[in-house]
Amino acid sequence: MSIDPAAALDPTRAPARCDFAVVGAGIVGLAVGRELTRRHPHASVCVLEREQELAAHQSGHSSGVIHAGIYYTPGSLKARLCVQGARELYEYCEAHDIPHERCGKLILATGPHELARLSELERRGNANGVRGLRRIVADELASIEPHARAIEGLHSPDTGIVDFAAVARSYARDVEEAGGTITTGWEIAGVEAGARALRLSCAGATIEAGHAIFCGGAWADRLATAAGAGTDPRIVPFRGAYLRLRPERRHLVRSLIYPVPDPSLPFLGTHLSRRIDGEVMVGPTALIVGARDAYSLARVRRADVLETLAWPGTWRMLRRWWRTGVKELHLAASRRALVRAAARYIPELRPADVEPGLAGVRAQALGRDGRLIDDFLFSVTERALHVRNAPSPAATASLAIARHVADQAREAFDLPA
Ligand SMILES: Cc1cc2nc3c(=O)[nH]c(=O)nc-3n(C[C@H](O)[C@H](O)[C@H](O)COP(=O)(O)OP(=O)(O)OC[C@H]3O[C@@H](n4cnc5c(N)ncnc54)[C@H](O)[C@@H]3O)c2cc1C
Repeated sequence: MSIDPAAALDPTRAPARCDFAVVGAGIVGLAVGRELTRRHPHASVCVLEREQELAAHQSGHSSGVIHAGIYYTPGSLKARLCVQGARELYEYCEAHDIPHERCGKLILATGPHELARLSELERRGNANGVRGLRRIVADELASIEPHARAIEGLHSPDTGIVDFAAVARSYARDVEEAGGTITTGWEIAGVEAGARALRLSCAGATIEAGHAIFCGGAWADRLATAAGAGTDPRIVPFRGAYLRLRPERRHLVRSLIYPVPDPSLPFLGTHLSRRIDGEVMVGPTALIVGARDAYSLARVRRADVLETLAWPGTWRMLRRWWRTGVKELHLAASRRALVRAAARYIPELRPADVEPGLAGVRAQALGRDGRLIDDFLFSVTERALHVRNAPSPAATASLAIARHVADQAREAFDLPA
């Protein structure tokens, strides 16, 4: 995805010192930077990003769904921050004229064996405070998605779509308008805590920050360990590739069509999703890959591979999920298989209807014990707070995550309210 070149800001503007440094200019880092400038108007805030563009990684490669908060375990941070964050995001998009659409989403059961899980999703969604959730039967489907087929479904009218890179750029403007700075092309290579400040170094330069918030996405574990945190959990990169419908077949999908997920692997399952630019995506696949920026399968980085292979959690996870892994490999290797999976919901779909679409790399935190960490996760080291797991729906929840992070920072660093 190309980002507005005007958003690549001047790399010479990194200050020598600041009160708060935010590392990473994805949607989470920029939301955190924005929140800090609002809470601490007299403090200096600088956001440091190693790429030349904003939202260059996950935030610029997502499917663009504003999740309503249906799937997540009631009481979890994901449940709470997603529901709050989605509401705030809609208000933010309205206030800033960012194109978005409350297009609604259908979760479809195609067989009786999926109905119990659909009921559990309905229960969770209601417990989480998702608005407007409604069970629908097959006859009602035609008025919502005329080309879809199912025996029953769950309709969420509050789910929507937006371009998260555009949202991130808007947060960046807020940071700058409030007096904060954003510096691109600044890759943090070292972190050193002193008595009065944290020294953040990149090739040939150093910044002294009173405190830092690390929002490094796929590199979150490396930044945390550089600052003295433990190695658990490690980030393992999963590549998610999509197909897209040819323009003349886009009418097959009006909004968002999702399967009933396996509760232990909720991010898997082929869905069909319309984007705000009108494209309809089919996917994603989920493959462990050889680089944290493996937008092309051919990109392999030795350090990334070694870290994945050396992590005991990788092998424990593979022992548990190898059958699922083989299935995912098949979906990634065969366009026909991916289309067949989507045709369960849209029977008219044929392999000739699709062409290759975008690919993103999901930063998934994996515990030493092989557990895929589901909830958002934060940790603290001296003068620093780390966002260690911010998978989907972190883009949806970005404004609420930013408030949560600022609250945590206030407590951890004894900052003024
Ligand atoms: C395929 C895919 C589809 C998704 N779909 C959705 C969706 O529909 N809805 C939703 O809500 N979420 C979705 N997500 C999840 C969402 O995109 C992420 O949760 C969110 O973008 C995370 O934002 P982030 O800022 O934490 O990470 P990123 O956007 O990855 O940003 C991290 C930033 O840190 C920078 N960085 C790393 N190391 C350093 C360093 N040493 N020095 C300086 N900077 C550094 C990186 O360059 C990067 O810009 C999807 C994710 C993927 C991969």
